[in-house]
Amino acid sequence: MRVAVTHVIRFIEETAAILQDQRHYLTELDAAIGDADHGANLDRGFSAVLARLPGVAEMDIGSILKTVGATLVSTVGGASGSLYGTAFLRAGSVTADRFELSPEDLVAALESALEGIQARGKAQLGEKTMIDAIAPGIDALKQALAAGDDLVVALRKGVAASGEGTQATASMIATKGRASYLGERSLGHQDPGAASAFLMAQALLKVIESSE
Ligand code: ADP
Ligand code: MG
Repeated sequence: MRVAVTHVIRFIEETAAILQDQRHYLTELDAAIGDADHGANLDRGFSAVLARLPGVAEMDIGSILKTVGATLVSTVGGASGSLYGTAFLRAGSVTADRFELSPEDLVAALESALEGIQARGKAQLGEKTMIDAIAPGIDALKQALAAGDDLVVALRKGVAASGEGTQATASMIATKGRASYLGERSLGHQDPGAASAFLMAQALLKVIESSE
């Protein structure tokens, strides 16, 4: 199957809904190792994104994703605003002028998003950040597609790997971002940004599953 503009719009709507629904959970995770604002940050950002969606719904996928990125950068105060903002801006760059994406195009957009997060935040795998949910998810998605799975099946595997990556952050010591101030005391707690990235992956899967 191919990913169309309508899927992208519904992915953004689902993401906004799931982040709003789970904002207290995300904030609780951030209360343990950060400053208790991750849920509120993302809810504020994606509410602003929702308000701007009607103005871009007829545009190409790249323009839509760039609008999401620019809105997150300008409305989310925390580190996650510039990181997720950069991710959507980068994904928007590689999908400029496109009204449809193949599974491989989707992988390329996700990889660009991850590169943007790494360029901006300088974190590597294992530092207890959103990268620990995103990178394994993309790897599993790519492997599944290469093995011949269709997009829905491949995305299910990607989301499962992203969930495992999120859980694994509990046994990591934070060395980037606010949680790094805690050092070893960050052990035993899941990273809020990994958890929010996992929620976004679930939103994407839900949209692709429901359009089969
Ligand atoms: P802040 O830390 O400024 O309060 P948020 O609470 O919204 O911002 O977001 C915190 C999340 O941002 C962390 O859980 C982590 O996943 C992510 N994060 C922080 N710094 C980095 C970084 N350098 N690279 C990747 N992700 C990071
Ligand atoms: Mg915070």
